[in-house]
Order: sequence, then C-alpha cells, then structure tokens
Amino acid sequence: MTVVVDHIGLLVTNDEALGEGPLGVVKDAALVIEDGRVAAVERAGAAADQRIDAAGRCVIPGFVDSHTHLVFAGDRGDEFAARMAGAPYAAGGIRVTTDATRAASTEELAALAAARKREAHRAGITHLEIKSGYGLDVETERRSCEVAAQLTDDVTFLGAHVVPAGYEADDYVALVTGDMLGACAPLARWIDVFCEDGAFDADQSRAVLEAGRAAGLGLRVHGNQLGPGPGVQLAVELGAASVDHCTYLTDADVDALAGSDTVATFLPATDFSTRQPYPDARRVLDAGATVAIATNCNPGSSYTTSMAFCLALAVRDMGMTTEEALLAATRGGARALRRTDVGHLAPGARADLAILDAPSYSHLVYRPGVPLVAGTLVGGRRLA
Ligand SMILES: [Zn+2]
Repeated sequence: MTVVVDHIGLLVTNDEALGEGPLGVVKDAALVIEDGRVAAVERAGAAADQRIDAAGRCVIPGFVDSHTHLVFAGDRGDEFAARMAGAPYAAGGIRVTTDATRAASTEELAALAAARKREAHRAGITHLEIKSGYGLDVETERRSCEVAAQLTDDVTFLGAHVVPAGYEADDYVALVTGDMLGACAPLARWIDVFCEDGAFDADQSRAVLEAGRAAGLGLRVHGNQLGPGPGVQLAVELGAASVDHCTYLTDADVDALAGSDTVATFLPATDFSTRQPYPDARRVLDAGATVAIATNCNPGSSYTTSMAFCLALAVRDMGMTTEEALLAATRGGARALRRTDVGHLAPGARADLAILDAPSYSHLVYRPGVPLVAGTLVGGRRLA
C-alpha cells in the first residue's frame, strides 16, 4: 500500500542530493511511502492509496533521541522545586528513584515507560534509545532492560550509573562487569558508564566498557558533565559511538572528538534543569566533530521529552544555528546510534516524520514552549 504525505509546504529531507542546503529542503512536496519506508520525494499531488494532507505545513524527519532514561518509578517534582528555590542539590536524589524502581513490578515499569514513549511521540520523537540504570542490582537492571527492549531496539545497559549504597566502587564494578552484564547483555545493544567525579573514574569506566565490548555491546559514555574529566578521551580511545553531556571540554577534548567517529552529544535541557553553564557547541562544530542533541529524559536532571525545547536552548545559548540544531537532533542522533535507517527522509529510510503546525522548522526555536507537532508517523504509521 502506498501512503502519501501530500501538500507539504516545506519538506526537510536531511539529504543534500534531494533539495536545497544541508537540510535538503524541498518546497511544495509530496512524500511517497511504501511498506513503511520512504519510496520517493515528488511534487505535491502525487498518486496514492492513502493520503495525509499536510496542508502547506512543514514536515521534518522525526527526532532521533539518542539518550533517554525512560525506565523508572517514583516522582521527584518536590525535590526539583526545592532545588530551584535554593536548596542544595541532594546527591542522594537518585536513591529515591532506585528505591521506587526496585519496588515496582515489571508491569508497572512497562506502563510508566510506555506512557513516556507516547509523550515523546507527541513531541515528534520517532526513535529513541532507552537506558537502564535505576535498578543497580542484577534483577532490577535485567527487568529494566527487558522493559526497554519492549519499546526500542536501542537498549543501553547502564548498571554503572552510580555506586549504590552499601558498595565500595570496585566491588560494584565487579558486579556490573560480571553477573549484571551477563543478565543484561542479551537484552541490550549498548553499554554506558557515568565517567565523572563521584561516579566512576577512568580505570573503572574502562573496565566497564571493555567488559561490555567483550560481551558484544557497543559503547556509550556519560562524560564531562560536571567538570573537565577523562570521559571524552576514554570514549574516543575506545571507539565509543557517542560521549554525552560534553559540557566541559578542553581543547584536547575537542581535537580528539574532531579526529574521531565518536559523536559529541549535547543534553542542553540538563544544563537548564541543573543551572549548569551551557557547552559551546560552536567550538565543537567549527573543529569538525559530529554532534547530536538529545533530551536525556530522566527524573533527576532533565525530565522533558521536548526536543524542540532542547533545540531552542542549543540555538539561544550554545551557538548553533537553527539548521545545525535540527540536524543534530535528527541525523546527529542517528549517527550517535550508528544507524542509517532513521534521521533522514531519503528513499529507503524508515518513514519516520513529524508534521509541524508551522510553515517552517524555524518555528521550533522561534516559538519556544508551543506544542507545534501536529502529527507523528513512525514506519509510515500515524502514531500521534
Ligand atoms: Zn543520562
């Protein structure tokens, strides 16, 4: 069956061969979809079995959110409000989430995560990575990966999120790289580690990543969030697909990223929610590194599924152009997940897209906080 999204005023394909500029923009277009994949980009008025009328509005590739923590229970709204009102950051905040997550049944966790994924779809996110990391014991990490695997094929095992109460760091690393990895690796595509002061140091992070690689997992790193640190260099050295946060980068970090296949993934809603300075994305882009933007949706430091909000921050506060930010949240996210089937709308790509209630993608940044996603298609099927 052929589906056509017709009368698209402005179509972003992210393919320079199909249209103008780096976004491959085509005006007055029709997107032809067959069997869930993009078949062709044509002039408006193309023939089809089923027609979706974009009515002159803008269509973009769906956002690819390469960094989320959707599997958790409990609520920390009061903690956030207190922090905004001046209370010191409670480092034990994650324990609230861990306790609630351990206590929740797998069915409860699955319902909570699925609701968050639906929220992400309504915000124009059509593919997302989901991490474990709030169980911090073998059984709850395994259950978290199981729940994530029901929602995405980009599951990340993040047993090395923090050292839970009652453990010495090295003993916990032994658990993560031993029984926990054994339980979670069959359910996951990636392994991740929080390489930061107060979490895991360079040696511990290396041990986690090397054990993950030996178990067949691809590598991701949380690094350089709270200050300069070894995360970026370690990620590049080990060939990680992505190093995420990148709020504090030295010149050597920027050079290393520019000379590598490791994507620098920015999480600006986290810097917003924790009152951190924003990273200088301009410097990283000008050096030639590949960048992505992701939501980092999580209960402690960034409880949002609004990629548009992340774009607005990146443009206003990180030195990115609107076009660069949109690319980073679509094609950049796909690169951070080492995928070519999503993040663009060239023939052969998965038909994942968002129809905006706006004449141009620039409104995503120009009209912050306004829910501009009028419709979302995943694999050619209308979800939101
Ligand atoms: Zn994270």
